Amino acid sequence: MTVTAGASTTALDLGPARALTCRECGHQVPLAAEFACAECFGPLEVAYEFGDVTRADIEAGPKSIWRYRQLLPVPSDVDAHPNTEPGLTRLVKADRLAAALGVKSLWVKDDTGNPTHSFKDRVVAVALAAARQLGFTVLACPSTGNLANAVAAAAARAGWESVVLIPSSLERAKVLTTAVYDGALIAVDGNYDDVNRLATELAAEHEDWAFVNVNVRPYYAEGSKSLGYEVAEQLGWRLPDQVVVPVASGAQLTKVDKGFREFTELGLVEGKPYRVFGAQATGCSPVSAAYKAGQDVVSPVKPDTIARSLAIGAPADGPYVLDAVRRTNGAVEDVSDEEVVEGIRLLARTEGIFAETAGGVTVATAKKLIDTGQLDPDAETVLLITGDGLKTLDAVQDKIGPRATVPPSAAAVREALES
Ligand SMILES: *Cc1c(COP(=O)(O)O)cnc(C)c1O
Ligand SMILES: [Zn+2]
Repeated sequence: MTVTAGASTTALDLGPARALTCRECGHQVPLAAEFACAECFGPLEVAYEFGDVTRADIEAGPKSIWRYRQLLPVPSDVDAHPNTEPGLTRLVKADRLAAALGVKSLWVKDDTGNPTHSFKDRVVAVALAAARQLGFTVLACPSTGNLANAVAAAAARAGWESVVLIPSSLERAKVLTTAVYDGALIAVDGNYDDVNRLATELAAEHEDWAFVNVNVRPYYAEGSKSLGYEVAEQLGWRLPDQVVVPVASGAQLTKVDKGFREFTELGLVEGKPYRVFGAQATGCSPVSAAYKAGQDVVSPVKPDTIARSLAIGAPADGPYVLDAVRRTNGAVEDVSDEEVVEGIRLLARTEGIFAETAGGVTVATAKKLIDTGQLDPDAETVLLITGDGLKTLDAVQDKIGPRATVPPSAAAVREALES
């Protein structure tokens, strides 16, 4: 379980990070490449001692997630190459989608604009910066696709080797957009949960491999806080009333909430109640099922959905998602694959943003939450759109296409437009 790479015994510079704390029993250990509590096997989380952080400091920082480096487990001189780093993606006022959904004030956080077109670039950038400090030399992951892209690309840019494990059934676009970076890409005959188990086994064998979401997971997960920070900063240093977040492992949702709480505690925004909603595809909805059943534990499921980037049947952070949505008076809801495709098309038609299936899940879930009265249509709402539709073309390929195919004559075009 515990991997201690060479350099972790020497002085570490992980910025404001001070220790790892067990989320279950509170047991603390020094910063290292550990992810499970030795006392109770609970997940470890980064604990911090923040200095004074001002809005002006952040605003003067790089136009990427590194503007928040004083709040992340990375060295204070983290290598913040301009233009190649993730984050500070656009927050779009989505008036036309708002009208279609019948809500007053709606924003879309468009994370398709990251270097490999999904929010995973955020978590990988933080994992890589921490892994370098911890003495690792190889970047690795089990992935449902977007993480594979992000790890392979970040390793290529850093001059690191990468080892990426994917289920062999993965969308062709996600296979190609990983393979092109020329790391070691291994397709495994099995589903994501099989691939994840394999990664845990390999992490124990290879001391110099940083599996971003396994042995350096506590650092990796912190990268998602930047989504919460950016939403608050881009709203003009205030929190939204409601946010809808897609749920795979659940890390992103819990960290967006953590980001909002930290900004409040640091006085960067005024504290106020906000509600966090989780979105899943019905074909892989273990957290939604547990929420609806009023349970605290999440029973694993076998995924069967087109939303493969969210297809984690045994979500590590499931119970913490339940805590966060219940504490904030939110909810978790799920939608069918047909609704997912409708969600993709609705966002494209109204806002000109082409999201992958996870984005379809978020939009369709928001619609369902509104239609069922769970989401307040009069409250300011933010939807997290976390990945690009170009990666999941197969989800829409049989549903859309040219209106007509005509000979090169103006009359034929006119006729096609009239019919
Ligand atoms: C991985 C992923 C998520 C969810 O991430 P978790 O932190 O595992 O819940 C959401 N959207 C996209 C596009 C992803 O690739
Ligand atoms: Zn513990």
